[in-house]
Amino acid sequence: MNSHDLEKGLMACVHCGFCLDACPTYRATGDEADSPRGRIVLMRGVHEGKIPLLTEEATGPGTVGHHLERCLGCRACEPACPSGVPYGHLLEHFRDQQEAVSKRGVGERVLREGLLQTLTDPRKMALALRAGKLTGGKIPAAVARFLGLPHGTAVPIPTDLAAAARPLPAVTAARGEPRGRVALLAGCVMRVLYGPVHHATARVLSANGIEVICPPVQGCCGALHGHQGKLEDARQLARKTIDAFGAGDDYDAIILNSAGCGSFLKDYGHLLKDEPVWEKRAARFSSKVKDITEYLVEMGPRPMPGRVEARVTYHDACHLAHGQRVTSAPRLLLRSIPGVTFVEMPDSDQCCGSAGVYNYLQPDMAGVLQQKKVDALLSTGAQIVATGNPGCLAWIQQGLPKGASVPTIVHPVELLDQAYRAAA
Ligand code: SF4
Ligand code: SF4
Repeated sequence: MNSHDLEKGLMACVHCGFCLDACPTYRATGDEADSPRGRIVLMRGVHEGKIPLLTEEATGPGTVGHHLERCLGCRACEPACPSGVPYGHLLEHFRDQQEAVSKRGVGERVLREGLLQTLTDPRKMALALRAGKLTGGKIPAAVARFLGLPHGTAVPIPTDLAAAARPLPAVTAARGEPRGRVALLAGCVMRVLYGPVHHATARVLSANGIEVICPPVQGCCGALHGHQGKLEDARQLARKTIDAFGAGDDYDAIILNSAGCGSFLKDYGHLLKDEPVWEKRAARFSSKVKDITEYLVEMGPRPMPGRVEARVTYHDACHLAHGQRVTSAPRLLLRSIPGVTFVEMPDSDQCCGSAGVYNYLQPDMAGVLQQKKVDALLSTGAQIVATGNPGCLAWIQQGLPKGASVPTIVHPVELLDQAYRAAA
């Protein structure tokens, strides 16, 4: 963020407090310093040199670092703000500054690096999953040491690991009359943990007459790095992603089925602003990025010949609802599936606590929010919960009670796929 944008962003806050009720951490603690308004006051104090970003205690209670780290980065405060404060950009900027002067202990630094390295490298993530599968979901000591993670780190284990990591073909042909051509981001976590969501996405697009290209050389998009205050790493990954897709010029759209990645890709124009070679290219790339639900609604989905007889509810992934402001498209699609009875859950747009690696770094707050989310979805009596982000899928799944009558959790596109596949 250049100094002009930073100053403008900080000064835009008029302290009205309209954002307070939208903020999950403020709702949980009631502490002004855990609210968007309070955090902006702290950021402004740091910017004006009145308070240090970190103290000797690094991120202990009462420090700026502590309250910034407790922020989920969910951006629920942004749509609630009448002044248009770019809270997400401010947070990324100050987290980047915080990383530069961090006095974290060795253990915490290793944990943060280990998490980023593992989650964003499909080979390491696959190793963690295979090892975790043998020990009931917890990574055993030797593998955890190798990955730089604490012994016993929990990972969500897919029932069928091989199926979860089955790669997409480079091209999935359109069925019926052709209507378009898109590229799909395979990403990192999605590729090894939620491969079936990629396959469902390609099949649904194909059933709608869309050819799907999955560029073979692509990696992490940088979202997790950006959210953790590693902006230079994020920029490098963004440049590589743009190169892998050729700035999107060959496609009608670049399709995402992971809300966190989609939100970040839509922001590449901002991330690479002020870089002469990249600024325009990044902005053009970002303008092509669409969430799968957003794209399908814009295209007008073909009728679904099959049925899904189920009561379904929907959790708004933060970076889809607040980061991309996509809330009606997934609901429209779910409601349009023959046989689905759609029910809203209370506070559907409140963060589930996953928030990238937040659930590993702030387990107490993440646990409180996870329980609230589980209570909310169970109150609907739904048999299926749909949500459009891998972190939410995994974290909500981990929080569900065990038992036969517990709802299953899926990506919306998996339900659409069921309804289209009935005709295949
Ligand atoms: S990003 Fe989320 S947790 Fe952070 S201040 Fe905004 S609403 Fe609160
Ligand atoms: S709603 Fe916007 S202007 Fe009002 S306190 Fe929150 S961030 Fe500041």
